[in-house]
Amino acid sequence: MDRSRIIVTAVVLAMLGAIVPIAAMFHLAWLQAVQKEHERLQLFASRAIARADISLNDATAALRQIDQFTGVRCSADHIARMRQLTINTRPIEEMGYFENGLLKCSSWGPTEGRVVQSTPDFTTKDGIAVTARIQPVMSEGHFLMALRYRDHNVLVDPVRFVDVIVDPGIQLALATQSGMLLGALNGPDPARIKKIIAGPGEGIDDDLLFATARGTGWIAVATEPTSQILGSVRKQQLLLLPLGAFMAAFIIGVVVWLSRRRLSPLGELQIAVRKHEFIVHYQPIVELRTGNCIGAEALVRWKRPNGSLVRPDLFIPLAEESGLITAITDQVIAMVVFDLNSLLVADRSLHIAINLSATDVGTARVLPILEKALQHTGIRPRQIWLEATERGFVDINSARSTLVRARELGHAVAIDDFGTGYSSLSYLEGLPLDALKIDKSFIDTISTNSATSSVTPHIIDMAKTLKLKIVAEGVETQAQADYLEARDVDYAQGWLFARPMPASEFIAYCRQVKPTA
Ligand code: C2E
Ligand code: CA
Ligand code: CA
Repeated sequence: MDRSRIIVTAVVLAMLGAIVPIAAMFHLAWLQAVQKEHERLQLFASRAIARADISLNDATAALRQIDQFTGVRCSADHIARMRQLTINTRPIEEMGYFENGLLKCSSWGPTEGRVVQSTPDFTTKDGIAVTARIQPVMSEGHFLMALRYRDHNVLVDPVRFVDVIVDPGIQLALATQSGMLLGALNGPDPARIKKIIAGPGEGIDDDLLFATARGTGWIAVATEPTSQILGSVRKQQLLLLPLGAFMAAFIIGVVVWLSRRRLSPLGELQIAVRKHEFIVHYQPIVELRTGNCIGAEALVRWKRPNGSLVRPDLFIPLAEESGLITAITDQVIAMVVFDLNSLLVADRSLHIAINLSATDVGTARVLPILEKALQHTGIRPRQIWLEATERGFVDINSARSTLVRARELGHAVAIDDFGTGYSSLSYLEGLPLDALKIDKSFIDTISTNSATSSVTPHIIDMAKTLKLKIVAEGVETQAQADYLEARDVDYAQGWLFARPMPASEFIAYCRQVKPTA
């Protein structure tokens, strides 16, 4: 991912990180307020059911008592007893006695006219037949409920059944199972009540919160417009807002931290290592005497996802400092094998020089990895040269043992950038080396008209004394090449011959320079 995409992604994630937790808290506040309100409505509905059950029990008790009356029916005694029970039992408006399905007398006295016994809507477990809505002649449009036990019935005002105290904003309804409204408080809409009864026990119906409670044959429904709870939603929101803000801040912090990490040079390099974003270019090394290509140095490049190549001196120091270099060395080894396996097997005179980092030289960890990479490839260990710079010789003993081991395995070892470090001859003698690469800065001093650095011939002589092969680095002019050849320098590498190039070009280059290969 390139920088702009990382930034855009980070901004989007940070925005989501800010919005989502706060929106979630707002939603949670709403849910909590709704739940609290449902509990309250539930309480009112249950109270209405309890109230209705008490009224039913009172009426049932009165009906049982009158049923036990043994005197003559519709006698003055009987009527007085019915009247007394009517007065003493709070919900009862009137008590009546039926014979052959017709009302014969009531608590008000003998009846005139034909009042037929009502058909019950349901019967309670105590055997009380309930007719939910009847309209007695006297009641002027007001509906009453009739409860009958054997020959007696009582008329009850359904309002008595919802005789509970509720908050002004809450509507309460008592209805039969089929949705017929028996009693109501604060004017609920009968059609909505019917709809609610058919549904679940509690919930939200459009703009109405509701809760129901079921009792003997009836259902109590408590409703409340959702607008009523906005206040408590706000209160809940204020309580939860700090938590949402904290979560948002945390998420934004994490996004910023992650994106900064990704955008930092080290973060980018870590990703590059993980995603194997490296390729290797090969710079031919030629034999000065013949001009033959004798091999190449493997030079790593970081290929960015946008296709651009990053030079190694821009990332190798950071890789060395952070320890990522060892992973890069391993990837270079794997790529050299992948790129040039066939070429190296076809031409045994070719070698590839791989640059080792100071860590590789100090710990020798790279050798088993190299050994494993070469297994089953047909590439001979002596076809792989290892280049180590003086920076790798901080701990001279471990460096020496790494180099000894490398040679035991069959590799050739070259000292790289020779002359640029501060150490010199004294330690060179004690190191197991095969070749010495003279740094470009010394080759640069070779020119036709000015005096060649007095150091360069010394380095050449010294290498010869130590019986090391010499590779001159950074040869750019024919004059330099001529000078080096005249001094019996074996090999050279530089733009005069070829620049570092991709594997395919290097393979073609080898064939062209050395057609027999
Ligand atoms: P080096 O090992 O001294 O590699 C030689 C560098 O000199 C290369 O630069 C090469 O492109 C450049 N060069 C060769 N001939 C000429 C020339 O005629 N003129 C000029 N001006 N330059 C020339 P490059 O590829 O940029 O590599 C720079 C350094 O990065 C290398 O210096 C080496 O120290 C390091 N490096 C490259 N690849 C690796 C690797 O795989 N592992 C490690 N640890 N370091 C690497
Ligand atoms: Ca090198
Ligand atoms: Ca070098």
